[in-house]
Amino acid sequence: MSQREWIEKDFYKDLGVSSDASADEIKKAYRKLARDLHPDANPGDTAAEERFKAVSEANAVLSDPAKRKEYDETRRMFAGGGFGRGGFAPGAEYSTGGSGFGAEFNIGDLFGGGAGGDGGIGDIFGGLFGGRGGGRTATSTRPQRGADVEAETTLPFRDAATGVTVPLRLTSPASCTTCHGSGAKPGTSPRVCPRCNGSGIVSRNQGAFGFSEPCDDCRGTGSIIDDPCSDCHGTGVQNRTRNITVRVPSGVSDGQKIRLAGQGEAGLRGAPSGDLYVTVHVKPDKVFGRSGDDLTVIVPVSYGELVLGTTLSVPTLEGRVGVKVPAGTADGRILRVRGRGVPKRSGGAGDLLVTVKVAVPTDLDEKATDALAAYLDAEKASGFDPRSGWAGA
Ligand code: ZN
Ligand code: ZN
Repeated sequence: MSQREWIEKDFYKDLGVSSDASADEIKKAYRKLARDLHPDANPGDTAAEERFKAVSEANAVLSDPAKRKEYDETRRMFAGGGFGRGGFAPGAEYSTGGSGFGAEFNIGDLFGGGAGGDGGIGDIFGGLFGGRGGGRTATSTRPQRGADVEAETTLPFRDAATGVTVPLRLTSPASCTTCHGSGAKPGTSPRVCPRCNGSGIVSRNQGAFGFSEPCDDCRGTGSIIDDPCSDCHGTGVQNRTRNITVRVPSGVSDGQKIRLAGQGEAGLRGAPSGDLYVTVHVKPDKVFGRSGDDLTVIVPVSYGELVLGTTLSVPTLEGRVGVKVPAGTADGRILRVRGRGVPKRSGGAGDLLVTVKVAVPTDLDEKATDALAAYLDAEKASGFDPRSGWAGA
């Protein structure tokens, strides 16, 4: 538990008590919640497990008067400075629902359940204290947001156009099931680091300057694990194979990335999970092509059909549609059928673009050949010359 997490987390809310609750009220609230949410009482219920962790964390701080005071002060300090919850509107990296996610899909409305976005403000503090990969080793040991995970899936063209639910099998670090991510051997729990009082940060004065730096005793985590969990060696994380279901929205195009918030690697020691990015590949279709939300199809026709006009039966994503070809339609012309293209996420659909393309016969029988020759004579007699007005004549 580090200072930066304090600012993000509302321990009072986690325990369902007011911020001026007495020690006794906090104790009662915690006992009841811990009993109700205990993983042993809710096997396989990951939501309860998450809540149990949150409640335990909240209690660890609020039940300790010194820590509670420090927590209150930290939150007061940063809430005033615009670092409070919801104070992070700019900066897309921290968007928790996907607004401002640029060209990528935003998760909120794409994925039914379980993708609770929980971006963090960790990086801001990481920056203050030397940052990732720079300076101290603290960032690798304090509670740390899980890494983002990349995955790929290949979809048939029509599934990508209409939207589909695909199973994905992922092997990645996940919260340890033995210790529920705490890193401590079952039956024990991490204790608050006495040197930094659980903040993970100590102050040091040097000359005229005061420095804050990660606590050496707990290596910035704020807690000390005396008996590490043997299954995860105290990290709180295990490699696990997960099967998840990804709902791919309609109209996804080849190479597009979909983000699933919170489905990446588990965070270390109870920190939020990273995100999962799924790159979607779309297999080409034998019949259809795509142009944005428009569906394209090339339909072979005879010369005669273009001259006289006809109605073509053209396939769509759902069935077929009759497309009227007016008399005198030029070869290669594109006929637009409104609303029969790729479904849009905003509702409605793009258009179906039908290209007519003359198929030239190569083995006409005698009767047809004679008829065609007679036709050419009649055409010439009627005054039609395909090369009249042609610059190359
Ligand atoms: Zn463990
Ligand atoms: Zn410490």
